[in-house]
Amino acid sequence: RWAYVNGRYLPHRQAVVHVEDRGFQFADGVYEVVTLLDGRFADLDGHMERLGRSLTELRMGWPADPRVVTMIARELVRRNRVVNGSLYIQVTRGVAPRDFKFPADTPPTLVITVKRVAAFAKPAQLEKGVAVVTVPDIRWGRRDIKTVGLLAPVLAKQQAAESGAYEAWLIDPDGTVTEGSSSNAWIVTRDGTLVTREPSEKILNGITRLSLLRLARERGIPVEERSFTVEDALAAREAFLSSAGTFALPVTRIDGKPVGEGGPGPVTMALRQAYLDYVAGRASR
Ligand code: PMP
Repeated sequence: RWAYVNGRYLPHRQAVVHVEDRGFQFADGVYEVVTLLDGRFADLDGHMERLGRSLTELRMGWPADPRVVTMIARELVRRNRVVNGSLYIQVTRGVAPRDFKFPADTPPTLVITVKRVAAFAKPAQLEKGVAVVTVPDIRWGRRDIKTVGLLAPVLAKQQAAESGAYEAWLIDPDGTVTEGSSSNAWIVTRDGTLVTREPSEKILNGITRLSLLRLARERGIPVEERSFTVEDALAAREAFLSSAGTFALPVTRIDGKPVGEGGPGPVTMALRQAYLDYVAGRASR
């Protein structure tokens, strides 16, 4: 297995960065995860665009031209012979003596890895849906930037796992659901409207989220970008989550209570299929 670190393809176990790397010292870096489905990157352009935006927000430059980064990613996938998997790209502000202020003239660190994924969802997750638990959203104020500072989501996901749930839905102080610890949150209301929170500094604007919104609109599904509460979700017909690695995945229990009929809903499953068809370059059924 091969990884890419600052200009070199290395055996994965030798792929290391320095202890003074600002990613390690300050979480001063950004990342992207891109799914590889049947040899195709899902929404690669969207992920690269968001990487550029994250870099700009942190006043960092590209470690190389985005087209070069893409080329390296493709070469890494080829070397690892991965057909279905997950690509990870991380850029940090580089290696410099520990000091909060930006270092002058330090080249960024670029790390790219890829791993195989046997199945993006377990059959039971698609047949029964997944459970989520709610936890207070204690993250910082710029969740629109995809930084490697992920302590709050780590704690939230661990709490979910310890409760036997797949994901944690994070609750804003105003009582609304912001998003999942590593996914966006959606509901389908009783009248059939698809609802997901509007983009703001309170959430990461998911690339999968954006594609699902477009696919839904193309299919004539009424869409509202607005916040919703757990009570709204429990009263809804369907709920689901979205991310690069899960596409659209039905959520059927929230804090132990069933959503809708308690099983995956038709809108969720149709959008999941539409997304898979879109990535595969197929016209949708
Ligand atoms: N919100 C958060 C907090 C996330 O970490 C992720 C996963 N990166 C998402 C939403 C979903 O984004 P995407 O669809 O681009 O994977």
